[in-house]
Amino acid sequence: MKIEIATLFPEMCEAVLGESIVGRARKADKIEVHCRQIRDYSLDKHRRVDDNPYGGGMGMVMQCDPIYNCYNAVCEDMGTKPHTIYMSPKGKVLTQQRAIELSKMDNILIICGHYEGVDQRVIDKIVDEEISIGDYVLTGGELPAMVLTDCIARMCPGVLADDECFEDESIYGGLLEYPHYTRPEVWEGESVPPVLLSGHHANILKWRHEQSVELTKERRPDLYEEYCKSNK
Ligand code: SAM
Repeated sequence: MKIEIATLFPEMCEAVLGESIVGRARKADKIEVHCRQIRDYSLDKHRRVDDNPYGGGMGMVMQCDPIYNCYNAVCEDMGTKPHTIYMSPKGKVLTQQRAIELSKMDNILIICGHYEGVDQRVIDKIVDEEISIGDYVLTGGELPAMVLTDCIARMCPGVLADDECFEDESIYGGLLEYPHYTRPEVWEGESVPPVLLSGHHANILKWRHEQSVELTKERRPDLYEEYCKSNK
């Protein structure tokens, strides 16, 4: 899996993607992630990438050419057209299911917008899908691109230590995950649920499943309804 991120702030992305599980996976060649400075593809002598919006209004708009030139360079380096995603609050909201599907692709390009966004013509020409990370607006596409990259990366084979790491997790199996406990056995007078100390594997699994179902019913009636339908 190769992910290219086209951004005006590659250092910001590298700071996040060089650390922790994704950073280790990159070093171990489990996934390839590169960040490209969109300004490097501007033909303007001041490396300008934005201009005023036609029709007036506040804010600047990112121009077509720097993004298009960057896209063409990525295509050339990858030797193919990548699945191209524009991070945008107008996109479909990211789900675990979509991240799983994207993790099966070989080449992905993620474009980070800034200011008022990107000239629609380059979106129409190169973008395969627009993805939002939620119903709120951020100042730029870098944090959304980090969220998407992390979410895709952990679904790629070999990135997490064991597939079970995500199979029990919230959302993946349609439920929220059960609560976790670790040492000490008693903390501030509160004990760990006795079943977890019993060593009885089947009872532990049963307890965890019941906790997941209860938590989902209480906090996410939408997920619970889906879960009930698919487990009829
Ligand atoms: N004018 C745009 C609108 O109203 O749809 C918002 C532009 S926003 C200030 C600047 C950039 O941040 C966007 O081009 C996009 O790349 C990114 N962005 C902001 N919120 C986002 C979200 N919820 N999901 C994904 N990307 C987002």
